[in-house]
Amino acid sequence: MAETYDVIVIGGGPAGSSISTLLSSWGRNVLLLEKEKFPREHIGESLLPANWKVFDRLGVSEKIRNTSFVPKPGGTFIWGKDRTPWTVYFGEVNGLPAARQVKRDVFDKILLDNAKEKGAKVKEQSVVKEIIFEENRATGVIYENGGQTYEAKAKYVVDASGQDKFLGKKLKSIEYNPDFKNVAVWSYWENGKQLEGHDKGNVIYITFEHGWFWYIPLDFDNNLISVGAIVTPSGRKVLREKGFEKFYLDAINSSDTLPSLLENAKQVANIKVTKDYSYRNTNLFGEGWLMVGDAACFVDPILSSGVMLATSNGMMGAYALNTLLDEPNIENDVFKRYEEMYIRNYNTFTALCNNMYDTQKKSKEDYFSGARNLVQPKLAHEKVDQTGDRQAFISLISGLNQKDTEKVINNFMEKRKKIGSTHTTFNEETMFMVFDHINQNLRDEGKDNTTINSETVIELDNRVEIKNEYFVPVIPNANKMNKKRVLKNPFGDIIQLSPLLENLVESLK
Ligand code: FAD
Repeated sequence: MAETYDVIVIGGGPAGSSISTLLSSWGRNVLLLEKEKFPREHIGESLLPANWKVFDRLGVSEKIRNTSFVPKPGGTFIWGKDRTPWTVYFGEVNGLPAARQVKRDVFDKILLDNAKEKGAKVKEQSVVKEIIFEENRATGVIYENGGQTYEAKAKYVVDASGQDKFLGKKLKSIEYNPDFKNVAVWSYWENGKQLEGHDKGNVIYITFEHGWFWYIPLDFDNNLISVGAIVTPSGRKVLREKGFEKFYLDAINSSDTLPSLLENAKQVANIKVTKDYSYRNTNLFGEGWLMVGDAACFVDPILSSGVMLATSNGMMGAYALNTLLDEPNIENDVFKRYEEMYIRNYNTFTALCNNMYDTQKKSKEDYFSGARNLVQPKLAHEKVDQTGDRQAFISLISGLNQKDTEKVINNFMEKRKKIGSTHTTFNEETMFMVFDHINQNLRDEGKDNTTINSETVIELDNRVEIKNEYFVPVIPNANKMNKKRVLKNPFGDIIQLSPLLENLVESLK
């Protein structure tokens, strides 16, 4: 007899463990299958401030803060036509906290252990071999563990297999990004120099003739540094001719910056190489299945968006599935909304990466204004808006100001102005969205004369329960769902109406 679950997740990286943690903590029955035994090595070490919000949800922020992971206050760029280093700090925008530079073997194990603690059944050294489809619908998997083959069934299957792209390869749905046909070559060095003062812990980005280097401090005790080169198409011929190891060392030696940073350093690991990592799948969902993290798409290592996109979309995927486990009849709408939101985030980072890749010609002001152009017409949040282009750049590279978020905040700011409100509280923002949504639903139902206005919002401030349990698809025809139950605020938080508000809505109908 096959075991049965609500959700089976393939892969225990940041995406798979995030989605499993949340679903399990909401009481869902989740099986996570991971082919490796953790801790296992992985590339992708530099995180973003936006990760904290997800860590809070997963309940691991404290654990991560208590590690010796290097705090990353910002980034230092030797980038563009002017070789003078320039630095940006996340804290310049609304006092955002420092991110972390993480050893991925340790970091990924913390997330996976957390999924176990929250109730997911995690089976390591379990390789998924096949997804079972019945009449086009994914209904389970076949996997191997310790030489045995098992079958497990579930209402939903999540592909979080990372760059293995388990399902994408089978469905032949992977589209490689023609703008990022790059190769990554990297290794680790002990006793590398650190930046000093406020810059200590920054990732350093250094362009060179055929691309750019990352210089990521991973440990202050032995000054362990991850040094990697991203080689753009102009360098691929040289890379082929020299071989990746010689190419890597030659490029370091001829860099205008790295020889001095690595002056007393010793290479302590083999040189690794990877390519074909920039792509997206044509569809991120199908009947009974969902892709998340690198299994769905990945842009490029520049600006370190990978783990942030994997975990925050893991969170979004969890909301989607949690909703569907109760309301399966709206599957297509919910998955479609999930895909739209995911691809919007992905596209924002793709545009931002394209802005950065014009490495030789631009000045830092060009990169800042390029970022600003991505959040047209202008940054809406007033605190962010004061200092313009530079702030737009920092907001975006922190992983925060996604375009859609900004639009909603824009609406909120407009409304706030209209009612002369001078303070911003999380609940107030939430409330506007609740009432917008309710008004929209009332209009959809032809109740044009019934609206809930901002006055009511102010009166009811602080009285909305925020439960973070449901994903709300904003669908053209909302009639199919129990719309009083689930709503979403501008920050992706899912809220549930309190009995008080439900009564209010009922009385207005
Ligand atoms: P993964 O972390 O790859 O996890 C997938 C898991 O699935 C793995 O543990 C794997 O063993 C398992 N798996 C695969 N197939 C199966 C199967 N059949 N059965 C069971 N288990 C399976 N991101 C950043 O945020 N910061 C950076 O600085 C950064 N630098 C990068 C540099 C390079 C060169 C590259 C290529 C990427 C970089 N990234 C970076 C991206 C980052 O590595 C990924 O975005 C991130 O790891 C995605 O997480 P994930 O959970 O989707 O996939």
